[in-house]
Amino acid sequence: MQNHTSNCVCIYLTMYYTLDNLQNDLDILASQGAEIFDIGYTLLGRPIPCIFKGSKTDGQTLLHASIHAREWVTTPLVIEMMKNYDGAYGVWCVPMVNIDGVLLVQQGLSSIPEQSLKDFLLSANGGSQDFSLWKANARAVDLNVNFNARWGEGAQNVFSPAPANYVGQHPFSEYENMALRDLTERIKPSVTLSYHAKGNVIYKGFGCVDPNLDCAQKISDSTGYPLLNSYNSAGGYKDWYVATFQKLGLTVEVGDESLSYNELINFLPQIYQQNKDVLNIATQCAQ
Ligand SMILES: [Zn+2]
Repeated sequence: MQNHTSNCVCIYLTMYYTLDNLQNDLDILASQGAEIFDIGYTLLGRPIPCIFKGSKTDGQTLLHASIHAREWVTTPLVIEMMKNYDGAYGVWCVPMVNIDGVLLVQQGLSSIPEQSLKDFLLSANGGSQDFSLWKANARAVDLNVNFNARWGEGAQNVFSPAPANYVGQHPFSEYENMALRDLTERIKPSVTLSYHAKGNVIYKGFGCVDPNLDCAQKISDSTGYPLLNSYNSAGGYKDWYVATFQKLGLTVEVGDESLSYNELINFLPQIYQQNKDVLNIATQCAQ
Protein backbone atom coordinates (compact mmCIF):
# COMPACT_ATOMS: atom_id res chain seq x y z
CA MET A 1 0.00 0.00 0.00
CA GLN A 2 2.82 2.32 0.93
CA ASN A 3 4.56 1.65 -2.37
CA HIS A 4 1.41 2.08 -4.34
CA THR A 5 0.80 5.48 -2.78
CA SER A 6 4.31 6.73 -3.42
CA ASN A 7 4.19 5.54 -7.03
CA CYS A 8 1.06 7.54 -7.59
CA VAL A 9 2.69 10.62 -6.12
CA CYS A 10 5.72 10.19 -8.43
CA ILE A 11 3.58 9.86 -11.55
CA TYR A 12 1.58 12.91 -10.50
CA LEU A 13 4.69 15.03 -9.90
CA THR A 14 6.18 14.24 -13.30
CA MET A 15 3.11 15.82 -14.89
CA TYR A 16 4.09 19.32 -13.78
CA TYR A 17 5.77 21.71 -16.19
CA THR A 18 8.47 23.01 -13.87
CA LEU A 19 10.92 25.90 -13.85
CA ASP A 20 13.60 23.39 -15.00
CA ASN A 21 11.41 22.45 -17.97
CA LEU A 22 11.09 26.15 -18.78
CA GLN A 23 14.86 26.70 -18.59
CA ASN A 24 15.39 23.74 -20.92
CA ASP A 25 12.92 25.16 -23.42
CA LEU A 26 14.49 28.63 -23.24
CA ASP A 27 17.85 27.01 -24.14
CA ILE A 28 16.20 25.27 -27.10
CA LEU A 29 14.57 28.53 -28.25
CA ALA A 30 17.93 30.34 -27.93
CA SER A 31 19.60 27.64 -30.04
CA GLN A 32 16.91 28.25 -32.68
CA GLY A 33 17.87 31.94 -32.78
CA ALA A 34 15.31 33.47 -30.38
CA GLU A 35 16.52 36.28 -28.11
CA ILE A 36 16.17 35.40 -24.41
CA PHE A 37 16.49 38.09 -21.75
CA ASP A 38 15.12 38.97 -18.30
CA ILE A 39 12.57 41.75 -17.78
CA GLY A 40 12.96 41.97 -14.00
CA TYR A 41 12.74 39.87 -10.85
CA THR A 42 9.97 38.32 -8.80
CA LEU A 43 9.46 39.18 -5.11
CA LEU A 44 11.76 36.27 -4.23
CA GLY A 45 14.45 37.43 -6.66
CA ARG A 46 13.85 34.94 -9.45
CA PRO A 47 14.60 36.42 -12.89
CA ILE A 48 11.52 36.72 -15.16
CA PRO A 49 12.48 35.60 -18.66
CA CYS A 50 11.20 36.96 -21.99
CA ILE A 51 11.53 35.46 -25.47
CA PHE A 52 11.71 37.55 -28.66
CA LYS A 53 11.40 36.35 -32.25
CA GLY A 54 11.06 38.23 -35.55
CA SER A 55 11.71 41.84 -36.52
CA LYS A 56 11.61 44.89 -34.23
CA THR A 57 10.81 47.34 -37.02
CA ASP A 58 7.10 46.65 -37.63
CA GLY A 59 4.07 46.36 -35.32
CA GLN A 60 4.81 44.22 -32.29
CA THR A 61 2.82 41.51 -30.50
CA LEU A 62 3.24 40.72 -26.80
CA LEU A 63 1.90 37.66 -25.02
CA HIS A 64 2.25 36.47 -21.46
CA ALA A 65 1.21 33.42 -19.44
CA SER A 66 1.00 32.15 -15.86
CA ILE A 67 0.23 35.50 -14.24
CA HIS A 68 -2.14 33.33 -12.18
CA ALA A 69 -0.18 30.60 -10.41
CA ARG A 70 -2.59 27.68 -10.76
CA GLU A 71 -2.88 28.35 -14.51
CA TRP A 72 0.73 27.20 -15.11
CA VAL A 73 -0.37 25.01 -18.09
CA THR A 74 -0.40 28.25 -20.10
CA THR A 75 3.42 28.33 -19.88
CA PRO A 76 4.10 25.16 -21.93
CA LEU A 77 1.32 26.33 -24.29
CA VAL A 78 2.94 29.68 -25.12
CA ILE A 79 6.37 28.00 -25.27
CA GLU A 80 5.02 25.62 -27.93
CA MET A 81 3.50 28.58 -29.80
CA MET A 82 6.86 30.40 -29.72
CA LYS A 83 8.83 27.33 -30.84
CA ASN A 84 6.55 27.00 -33.87
CA TYR A 85 6.38 30.71 -34.75
CA ASP A 86 8.49 31.43 -37.83
CA GLY A 87 6.85 34.63 -39.08
CA ALA A 88 8.74 37.85 -39.87
CA TYR A 89 6.86 40.13 -37.47
CA GLY A 90 8.03 40.73 -33.93
CA VAL A 91 6.66 38.63 -31.05
CA TRP A 92 7.60 39.04 -27.39
CA CYS A 93 6.60 36.37 -24.90
CA VAL A 94 6.79 36.38 -21.09
CA PRO A 95 6.03 32.69 -20.50
CA MET A 96 5.82 32.66 -16.69
CA VAL A 97 5.09 36.03 -15.07
CA ASN A 98 4.27 34.67 -11.61
CA ILE A 99 7.16 32.25 -11.09
CA ASP A 100 7.02 32.37 -7.27
CA GLY A 101 3.30 31.56 -7.35
CA VAL A 102 3.70 28.69 -9.82
CA LEU A 103 6.39 27.12 -7.62
CA LEU A 104 4.11 27.52 -4.60
CA VAL A 105 1.35 25.62 -6.45
CA GLN A 106 3.75 22.88 -7.59
CA GLN A 107 6.00 22.50 -4.53
CA GLY A 108 4.05 24.05 -1.65
CA LEU A 109 5.81 25.91 1.16
CA SER A 110 9.10 24.09 0.47
CA SER A 111 9.55 26.60 -2.39
CA ILE A 112 9.55 29.50 0.08
CA PRO A 113 12.97 30.30 1.57
CA GLU A 114 12.09 32.21 4.75
CA GLN A 115 10.13 30.95 7.74
CA SER A 116 8.36 34.29 8.28
CA LEU A 117 7.12 34.23 4.68
CA LYS A 118 6.01 30.59 5.04
CA ASP A 119 3.99 31.62 8.13
CA PHE A 120 2.45 34.57 6.30
CA LEU A 121 1.44 32.45 3.27
CA LEU A 122 0.07 29.65 5.45
CA SER A 123 -2.10 32.20 7.24
CA ALA A 124 -3.22 33.80 3.92
CA ASN A 125 -4.14 30.27 2.75
CA GLY A 126 -6.43 29.75 5.74
CA GLY A 127 -3.95 27.44 7.49
CA SER A 128 -3.91 24.89 4.65
CA GLN A 129 -0.67 23.40 3.26
CA ASP A 130 -2.49 22.70 -0.02
CA PHE A 131 -1.61 25.53 -2.43
CA SER A 132 -2.90 23.79 -5.58
CA LEU A 133 -5.59 26.45 -6.15
CA TRP A 134 -3.38 29.47 -5.34
CA LYS A 135 -3.62 32.29 -7.92
CA ALA A 136 -1.59 35.03 -6.27
CA ASN A 137 2.15 35.79 -6.01
CA ALA A 138 4.37 35.23 -2.96
CA ARG A 139 2.95 38.38 -1.29
CA ALA A 140 -0.58 36.93 -1.64
CA VAL A 141 -1.44 39.63 -4.20
CA ASP A 142 -3.48 38.54 -7.24
CA LEU A 143 -1.36 40.09 -10.01
CA ASN A 144 -4.24 40.29 -12.45
CA VAL A 145 -6.23 42.68 -10.27
CA ASN A 146 -3.19 44.86 -9.47
CA PHE A 147 -2.99 46.86 -12.74
CA ASN A 148 -4.02 50.50 -12.91
CA ALA A 149 -7.45 50.20 -14.57
CA ARG A 150 -10.47 50.60 -12.29
CA TRP A 151 -8.15 49.22 -9.60
CA GLY A 152 -10.06 47.95 -6.56
CA GLU A 153 -13.48 48.26 -8.25
CA GLY A 154 -13.92 44.59 -9.22
CA ALA A 155 -16.90 42.75 -7.76
CA GLN A 156 -14.68 39.96 -6.41
CA ASN A 157 -11.81 42.15 -5.19
CA VAL A 158 -10.58 41.63 -1.65
CA PHE A 159 -8.41 44.00 0.37
CA SER A 160 -6.22 41.74 2.45
CA PRO A 161 -3.76 38.94 1.53
CA ALA A 162 -5.53 35.90 0.06
CA PRO A 163 -5.06 32.99 -2.38
CA ALA A 164 -6.95 35.03 -5.01
CA ASN A 165 -8.47 38.47 -5.69
CA TYR A 166 -6.35 40.60 -3.31
CA VAL A 167 -5.65 43.84 -5.21
CA GLY A 168 -2.45 44.78 -3.33
CA GLN A 169 -1.66 48.04 -1.53
CA HIS A 170 -1.80 50.16 -4.70
CA PRO A 171 -1.75 49.62 -8.48
CA PHE A 172 1.58 48.18 -9.68
CA SER A 173 2.68 47.43 -6.12
CA GLU A 174 4.18 44.12 -7.32
CA TYR A 175 7.58 43.59 -8.98
CA GLU A 176 6.17 41.13 -11.52
CA ASN A 177 3.63 43.71 -12.74
CA MET A 178 6.18 46.53 -12.82
CA ALA A 179 8.33 44.35 -15.08
CA LEU A 180 5.43 43.56 -17.43
CA ARG A 181 4.32 47.21 -17.47
CA ASP A 182 7.83 48.47 -18.24
CA LEU A 183 8.26 45.96 -21.08
CA THR A 184 4.87 46.96 -22.54
CA GLU A 185 5.68 50.68 -22.35
CA ARG A 186 9.08 50.07 -23.94
CA ILE A 187 8.00 47.99 -26.94
CA LYS A 188 4.52 49.55 -27.39
CA PRO A 189 2.87 46.44 -28.82
CA SER A 190 -0.10 46.77 -31.16
CA VAL A 191 -1.67 43.49 -29.96
CA THR A 192 -1.44 41.77 -26.57
CA LEU A 193 -2.58 38.28 -25.59
CA SER A 194 -2.97 37.31 -21.94
CA TYR A 195 -3.13 33.53 -21.55
CA HIS A 196 -5.20 32.20 -18.66
CA ALA A 197 -7.11 29.02 -17.78
CA LYS A 198 -9.83 27.96 -18.05
CA GLY A 199 -13.15 28.01 -19.95
CA ASN A 200 -12.34 28.07 -23.70
CA VAL A 201 -13.43 31.69 -24.14
CA ILE A 202 -11.81 35.00 -25.14
CA TYR A 203 -12.51 38.28 -23.34
CA LYS A 204 -12.09 41.57 -25.18
CA GLY A 205 -12.42 45.28 -24.57
CA PHE A 206 -12.47 47.38 -21.43
CA GLY A 207 -15.48 49.55 -20.56
CA CYS A 208 -16.58 51.18 -23.80
CA VAL A 209 -13.13 50.83 -25.42
CA ASP A 210 -13.26 47.88 -27.81
CA PRO A 211 -10.65 48.26 -30.58
CA ASN A 212 -9.97 46.11 -33.65
CA LEU A 213 -13.01 43.86 -33.52
CA ASP A 214 -12.21 42.28 -36.91
CA CYS A 215 -8.96 40.86 -35.58
CA ALA A 216 -10.53 39.73 -32.33
CA GLN A 217 -13.13 37.86 -34.37
CA LYS A 218 -10.46 36.21 -36.55
CA ILE A 219 -8.66 34.91 -33.47
CA SER A 220 -11.96 33.72 -32.01
CA ASP A 221 -12.82 31.90 -35.25
CA SER A 222 -9.42 30.20 -35.46
CA THR A 223 -9.51 28.94 -31.85
CA GLY A 224 -13.20 28.12 -31.75
CA TYR A 225 -13.41 30.10 -28.48
CA PRO A 226 -16.37 32.51 -28.34
CA LEU A 227 -15.60 36.22 -27.99
CA LEU A 228 -17.08 37.86 -24.91
CA ASN A 229 -17.12 41.39 -23.58
CA SER A 230 -15.66 41.83 -20.12
CA TYR A 231 -17.79 44.73 -18.93
CA ASN A 232 -17.09 44.18 -15.24
CA SER A 233 -13.38 43.45 -15.50
CA ALA A 234 -11.08 45.53 -13.29
CA GLY A 235 -7.36 45.71 -12.57
CA GLY A 236 -6.27 43.15 -15.17
CA TYR A 237 -3.35 43.46 -17.59
CA LYS A 238 -5.72 43.43 -20.57
CA ASP A 239 -7.87 46.11 -18.91
CA TRP A 240 -4.85 48.36 -18.35
CA TYR A 241 -3.40 47.74 -21.82
CA VAL A 242 -6.69 48.43 -23.66
CA ALA A 243 -7.41 51.53 -21.55
CA THR A 244 -3.87 52.91 -21.91
CA PHE A 245 -3.01 52.06 -25.53
CA GLN A 246 -6.55 51.79 -27.04
CA LYS A 247 -5.41 48.78 -29.05
CA LEU A 248 -6.37 45.12 -29.25
CA GLY A 249 -5.83 43.24 -25.99
CA LEU A 250 -7.36 39.82 -25.47
CA THR A 251 -7.60 37.51 -22.47
CA VAL A 252 -7.57 33.94 -23.76
CA GLU A 253 -8.95 31.36 -21.30
CA VAL A 254 -7.82 27.89 -22.40
CA GLY A 255 -8.97 24.46 -21.30
CA ASP A 256 -12.25 22.78 -20.53
CA GLU A 257 -14.04 24.19 -17.49
CA SER A 258 -14.80 20.70 -16.20
CA LEU A 259 -11.11 19.82 -15.74
CA SER A 260 -9.03 20.64 -12.68
CA TYR A 261 -6.10 23.03 -13.16
CA ASN A 262 -3.52 20.30 -12.66
CA GLU A 263 -5.30 18.02 -15.17
CA LEU A 264 -5.08 20.55 -18.00
CA ILE A 265 -1.50 19.52 -18.88
CA ASN A 266 -2.89 16.16 -20.10
CA PHE A 267 -4.84 18.08 -22.76
CA LEU A 268 -1.97 20.31 -23.89
CA PRO A 269 -1.77 18.83 -27.44
CA GLN A 270 -5.45 19.60 -27.98
CA ILE A 271 -5.16 23.08 -26.44
CA TYR A 272 -2.15 23.78 -28.67
CA GLN A 273 -4.12 22.71 -31.77
CA GLN A 274 -6.81 25.25 -30.87
CA ASN A 275 -4.19 28.01 -30.51
CA LYS A 276 -1.68 27.09 -33.22
CA ASP A 277 -2.70 29.90 -35.64
CA VAL A 278 -3.14 32.64 -33.05
CA LEU A 279 0.35 34.14 -33.39
CA ASN A 280 0.18 34.27 -37.18
CA ILE A 281 -3.17 36.06 -37.03
CA ALA A 282 -2.18 38.34 -34.14
CA THR A 283 1.09 39.43 -35.78
CA GLN A 284 -0.79 40.29 -39.01
CA CYS A 285 -3.29 42.27 -36.94
CA ALA A 286 -0.42 44.15 -35.29
CA GLN A 287 0.65 45.69 -38.65
ZN1 LIG B 1 -6.28 33.68 -14.76
